Amino acid sequence: MNDLNNTYADLFIAQKANRFAIGNTTYKERIAKLIALKKAVEFTYKDKIRQALFDDFKKPFTETDLTEIYPVIGEIKFAIRHLKSWMKRQKVDTPLALTGSSSWYVYEPKGVCLLISPWNFPVNLTFGPLVSAIAAGNTVIIKPSEMTPNTSKVMAEMVANLFNENEIALVEGEVEVSQELLKLPFNHIFFTGSPQVGKIVMQAAAKHLTSVTLELGGKSPTIIDETANLKAAARKIAWGKFLNSGQTCIAPDYILIQEEVKEEFVAVLRAQLKAFFTTDASASHSLSRVVNTKHFKRLVAHLEDAISKNATVEIGGKTASEDNFIEPTVISNVAENASLLQDEIFGPILPIKTYKTIVEAIGYINSKEKPLALYVYSKSKKNTNTIIKNTRAGSTAINNNVLQYTNHNLPFGGTNNSGIGKAHGVFGFQEFSNMRSVLKQHTKGSIEFLFPPYTHLKQKFVDATIKWF
Ligand code: NAD
Repeated sequence: MNDLNNTYADLFIAQKANRFAIGNTTYKERIAKLIALKKAVEFTYKDKIRQALFDDFKKPFTETDLTEIYPVIGEIKFAIRHLKSWMKRQKVDTPLALTGSSSWYVYEPKGVCLLISPWNFPVNLTFGPLVSAIAAGNTVIIKPSEMTPNTSKVMAEMVANLFNENEIALVEGEVEVSQELLKLPFNHIFFTGSPQVGKIVMQAAAKHLTSVTLELGGKSPTIIDETANLKAAARKIAWGKFLNSGQTCIAPDYILIQEEVKEEFVAVLRAQLKAFFTTDASASHSLSRVVNTKHFKRLVAHLEDAISKNATVEIGGKTASEDNFIEPTVISNVAENASLLQDEIFGPILPIKTYKTIVEAIGYINSKEKPLALYVYSKSKKNTNTIIKNTRAGSTAINNNVLQYTNHNLPFGGTNNSGIGKAHGVFGFQEFSNMRSVLKQHTKGSIEFLFPPYTHLKQKFVDATIKWF
């Protein structure tokens, strides 16, 4: 490990030496880099990316285009369109007491950044934040997940072909690689992954007072009230939950449904899942697999635990270990102490829990950690507003799910246990920047009159300044 440590330290030192050259690039130079990345993702490497994700967990090509290629291209296009204005000096007003000066702030690059990404949307969640880091003028060391090795290999090839390693480098490897990298005094760490590992990252960052963006996970609730259009809700939830085989940080983790409409909702969801994946989902070309045996076993254990505590499997339930296949599964009457209701599920299993009143549903959500996303299906403005005002979450979609992620004008991120900091668009650019404030004195400032020695007259001016300016 010492050798590894030295390799990463060398890389870090090389990037540190290069940080002003990269940081002082113009918007045009940064845009040229983004265009090169766009070309690579959209054209040169598109087929390799699709194949790698299929080899890693049978991700359908169309889903790769929609959830890996499209979001990265969208992020790049958005940054290209706005970068000039983001990089402009931002003038601010000057109070009367500071007459004779002017003030502004600039977004300066943080410097040498570490980007640790997860396996579930490996291209999107590696290159998406990388776009923001490049736009903000940083150097970056990337450590992708070891769980999707085919995709990591393609991304490594892309990064090596597009960038010098003293600007952007990608290092592959197991968890130990992240652990070694985390010892280095980065200027910023952008981490996407679980809350558990997020805490490890934050502890390591604290040693150097490195700033962090933590894009984490957790249990995202979906409320369906008695006024909701159940058919529309079922269609959207069937997509949002079982996309990527449920391995999506903002997928509905569980449903809270008003008890009187539960049976009808289950019936329409059953019909919808059949329409999406036929009666034999294992033969469907529209469904990815669980990423590996470890996660397959984890999910099967969740299912068995719930069933042993008298849960009812409403839809699905079939599994096949040779293929890490889990049928889209909907389960109700789940005991509160079942692991399905305690841990983030991150797989194609959807528990449905009933409630009698909105107050009860809100109370349940607030008894848990603040979620990354909270969804509401309702035609009632009153119910929707009550839910939003009385809960806390990283983001919300009303009468939809997941799509809030795709609007680059919206900040994306969690709150407390589901994350710290925001990604996407200008928010991602700001995350990788330091807002440096500047005050420039043009003429002698009036405040200088108040410098020592302090006299009775000066005291009167100080009193007046406090009162009037
Ligand atoms: P993870 O936390 O296990 O791993 C994420 C990354 O951290 C990987 O690159 C891994 O190599 C590294 N890592 C793992 N253990 C480590 C350790 N002890 N020390 C240092 N580095 C370590 O997460 P995952 O399984 O890859 O992804 C699933 C989790 O990520 C879920 O909780 C999900 O909700 C969350 N997630 C969040 C977002 C978001 O944008 N908020 C997006 C995708 C996934």
